[in-house]
Amino acid sequence: MRPTYAEINLGAIRSNVREVRSEVGSLTRILVAVKANAYGHGLEQVAQAVLRAGANVLGVAFLEEGIELRRLGIGAPILILGSELPERADEIVRWGLTATVCTHELAVALSTAARGQHRRVQVHLKVDTGMGRIGLKTGEILSFLEAISELDHLVLEGVYTHFPVADAYNERYTLGQIRRFGEVVRKIRAHGICIPITHAANSAAIIRYPDAHMDMVRPGLMIYGLKPFRGAGLQIQLKPALTLKSHVCFLKTVRAKTAIGYGRTFIAKKQSRIATIPVGYGDGYRRSLSNRGQVLIRGKRARIVGNICMDQMMVDVTQIKGVRVGDEVILIGEQGTERISAEEIARLCSTINYEVVCALAQRVPRVYVDR
Ligand SMILES: *Cc1c(COP(=O)(O)O)cnc(C)c1O
Repeated sequence: MRPTYAEINLGAIRSNVREVRSEVGSLTRILVAVKANAYGHGLEQVAQAVLRAGANVLGVAFLEEGIELRRLGIGAPILILGSELPERADEIVRWGLTATVCTHELAVALSTAARGQHRRVQVHLKVDTGMGRIGLKTGEILSFLEAISELDHLVLEGVYTHFPVADAYNERYTLGQIRRFGEVVRKIRAHGICIPITHAANSAAIIRYPDAHMDMVRPGLMIYGLKPFRGAGLQIQLKPALTLKSHVCFLKTVRAKTAIGYGRTFIAKKQSRIATIPVGYGDGYRRSLSNRGQVLIRGKRARIVGNICMDQMMVDVTQIKGVRVGDEVILIGEQGTERISAEEIARLCSTINYEVVCALAQRVPRVYVDR
């Protein structure tokens, strides 16, 4: 196998699901977001692990991700979180997926497809209470429900909304959304319309807004052991599941003034020991970490020198004793007493931990361990 791979600890993932369970109690359902190849961790293994640990529903971004889960033999409910185009309704019904509905056209297409297949299709209505992405406006809900009430192959299983700033220190905006969503739900129920499952909370809201737990929560990030905001680790025990590993493939001593890599952006000031690591931006390891990022070798930090290439990069190991070809290199994760978190890398690249793990390329093998 390639000496560069991502090691995924399924024990950590199950432990994170159990943490969420203890946070929300036994009556609230847990939908785990496994979109984007389970945030880069691998769809099949993660889906099976979270279901075994007590998750009730899987959340995917679009139809194909749902089909992939069904083809793996997964029978659990699967909610498509995006707004699908009406022409895909037939496939949604065929694969027994639950659709997010916020347009009349999709509702009609789903009902027609379900009638044609002699089945019923479960749907969740999406309400936009302040995310500004997809969803019906709060004032449109009742007339929308009125308009789709004739579609008797449609089963309204849930109503939900989403928070854009549940991770932010200021709570005002999110509290306003929780209140407006609560009013919508009350209004629907006051009309005698049954909605079994209301839901709103992503990872950040699960920790910070117990009032938003409702009938179901929708954690993604925290299931992978990543922090939805600074200090989240103080409130809940999250275990990072992913370690990005490689091995030293070449070593050399260079004289002062030697240039390293494309663009000659690093020139050794003195005689240095330089290790080459077979990882690059082609693996999803961001080039903006050039001359900024660090890796762990023999429990110590080594600085990336020169521009990161597509498949390789160089690090300065002058200060680390005894480095050899074949030594383990940790790009994300821990080694000895040192740790490089996805959050640290995200800060250096001016992005978020979500993007760091999602960016991991398909050519990086995922290796599963359980500890
Ligand atoms: C991805 C997603 C989630 C999970 O969000 P995290 O911040 O990763 O917990 C929840 N709800 C919706 C609608 C999503 O798209």
